Amino acid sequence: MTSAENRCSFCGKPAVARLTGPERRLCAAHFIEDAEARVFAAMKDECMVAPGDRVAVGLSGGKDSTALLLLLHPILPTLGATLVAVTVDEGIAGYREETLKAAEALTAELGVEHVIVTFADLFGKDLDRLLVGREAQGCTVCGVLRRRALAEGVKRVGATKLATGHNLDDEAQSVLMNVLRGDLPRLRQDTSTGQPGHFVPRIKPLAVLSEKEIVTYLLLRGYFRDLPECPYAGTALRSEVRTMLAGLEHRHPGTMLRIIRFRDGVRRSARSVEPVKALSTCRRCGELTSGEVCQVCRLLERDGT
Ligand code: SF4
Repeated sequence: MTSAENRCSFCGKPAVARLTGPERRLCAAHFIEDAEARVFAAMKDECMVAPGDRVAVGLSGGKDSTALLLLLHPILPTLGATLVAVTVDEGIAGYREETLKAAEALTAELGVEHVIVTFADLFGKDLDRLLVGREAQGCTVCGVLRRRALAEGVKRVGATKLATGHNLDDEAQSVLMNVLRGDLPRLRQDTSTGQPGHFVPRIKPLAVLSEKEIVTYLLLRGYFRDLPECPYAGTALRSEVRTMLAGLEHRHPGTMLRIIRFRDGVRRSARSVEPVKALSTCRRCGELTSGEVCQVCRLLERDGT
């Protein structure tokens, strides 16, 4: 028996989730509808795509990017844009093989063009080999190289926007990590505008949904898969911040949203007082960088690749 308080606020069916802001209880169908409507509204409000855009989803095959592809698949045609998918294979044994298979199966099912870019092809070695002796820096090295590999994939598919699966939790964690590292430039950095001729603008349509909501959405749509965790994930500061933030959100609902609003306020005030910093091109590879040599070349040089 479902108590009266545990029924959908719209149709009275058994509720599967309780959401705040505004307070509502939702059945499976209304939860799916609500999540899709919030993503659609965020995309429209923030003008994330324009008619004629070719949007590449960075598809790892994990839960966030799977939800992103499922959500954008029906939304993009209504906005006059098309959808493609780019997967980066870093070469992480025991982890990437399964998520790659999931990405291939999903794009085949939805009929979405899919390109795979590998670290081995691009940088001469896979991540496991690049990290020998410096495993604790896994996510730092991977993050720099992944960004370059994704940019390469975007070029190959001729996309005009890159959509990433960052959710509300990821965004709030990034803000806190930048604060903990004292990294003000990164806190202010906004990648949503891109750099003409170099980086395509990045969009984050899932930033309005929490990780819990994404898992619920996938479960309800029958796409949830229990995939392995990246073996390097536990070494990151992010995992400590994730645990702390999850506790805060549980005790003080709305914490993550307030952190995002704080970041947006910092960015707005930074934009009003500072000119955009000019970037130059790396003297080794010709990619855009703020110094003489880009981070990718510095990392690979250290590795002797
Ligand atoms: Fe790369 Fe870290 Fe993500 Fe693993 S958890 S794929 S090492 S960024």
